Amino acid sequence: MANKRDYYEVLGVDKNASDADIKKAYRKLAKKYHPDVNPGDKEAEAKFKEINEAYEVLSDSQKRAQYDQFGHAGMDPNNGFGGFGGGFGGFGDFDFGSVGDIFETFFGGGGFGGRSRSRTGPQKGADLKYSMEISFEEAAFGVEKEIKVNRMENCKTCGGTGSKPGTSPVTCKHCNGTGQVQYKQSTPFGQFVNIKTCDVCHGEGKIIVNPCSACNGKGKVRNTVKVKIKVPAGIDNGQTISLRGEGEPGVRGGPAGDLFITIRVRPHPLFQRQGNDVICEIPITFVQAALGAELEVPTLDGNVKYTVPEGTQTGTVFRLRSKGIPYLRGSGRGDQYVKVHVEVPKKLNEKQKELLRQFAELSGDENHEQRKGFFDKMKDALGM
Ligand SMILES: [Zn+2]
Ligand SMILES: [Zn+2]
Repeated sequence: MANKRDYYEVLGVDKNASDADIKKAYRKLAKKYHPDVNPGDKEAEAKFKEINEAYEVLSDSQKRAQYDQFGHAGMDPNNGFGGFGGGFGGFGDFDFGSVGDIFETFFGGGGFGGRSRSRTGPQKGADLKYSMEISFEEAAFGVEKEIKVNRMENCKTCGGTGSKPGTSPVTCKHCNGTGQVQYKQSTPFGQFVNIKTCDVCHGEGKIIVNPCSACNGKGKVRNTVKVKIKVPAGIDNGQTISLRGEGEPGVRGGPAGDLFITIRVRPHPLFQRQGNDVICEIPITFVQAALGAELEVPTLDGNVKYTVPEGTQTGTVFRLRSKGIPYLRGSGRGDQYVKVHVEVPKKLNEKQKELLRQFAELSGDENHEQRKGFFDKMKDALGM
């Protein structure tokens, strides 16, 4: 470990080099020393390994920060208590008092009290996730619904204490009610006091002698409860409503978890949703398209009348302002877009056919601009 080269030196970059500079330097060197380029060259192979090791650390911001602080000693994953001494010479002004901070940095705070303290303290209850199906209209205008939620609740018989009414739990003698026990651990730096959860009371600090019969001493029972959900107008498929404190109860006085409800919107037979706009397709007859007509158009607010002009083409889209979905945040609504689709009649009887033939004889280019334009282009293209 002692003769290990500095990672920055290995990559030939400055200590303040940016991530991009590090990547660039690594690529250049990796290409140069790659074993495929230098077959059988042991020195190149060693260099290639060294470059990769340096890059692995310096390209990861967390590892890089650790390396900047502790040098190679901070990197070796095998460094436990004993191995740690190896890199120690580097820290000239090392203060033994702060050794706890170093272990925090190295082991994520796991071993030295941080985590074990929180294990015995108040804990937030678990979150619950449900999904709820609503109609297109309910999503548009909002709705109030009730859902049944199966969750743990504090036992009503014992008030959540777990002890038979009239009795109370006794203080755990093993930990004197703290829920934690201390033990000493020897390390190269001296003795450390380590803290762990009490095995006897499992961190509760109390032992139940007369368990409540309703909850078997757990203090909690599983219940199915009805929860009212206010679905706001404008909610969309896949969005989630969160209800704070409606999840599982907390532990040791911690807050209850939250309830998350994901909304599923049933498809509508006539409407489709695009953001806050409603899209609707309406078939019209070719006579209505040619002569113009007053149409009955369905909207979220009921049917409205809309006049399509003479000569309306298939695929024409018209807009009904503010007939769409209300905005979830703020006021106002989206629009409704109505696309007309001209239906060509089928199964014509002889009389109908005869009338159409007469109509065709009377029709000319001026009645069919697009067709005329197309045939003009075709003649040009084919040199006719
Ligand atoms: Zn109980
Ligand atoms: Zn205990």
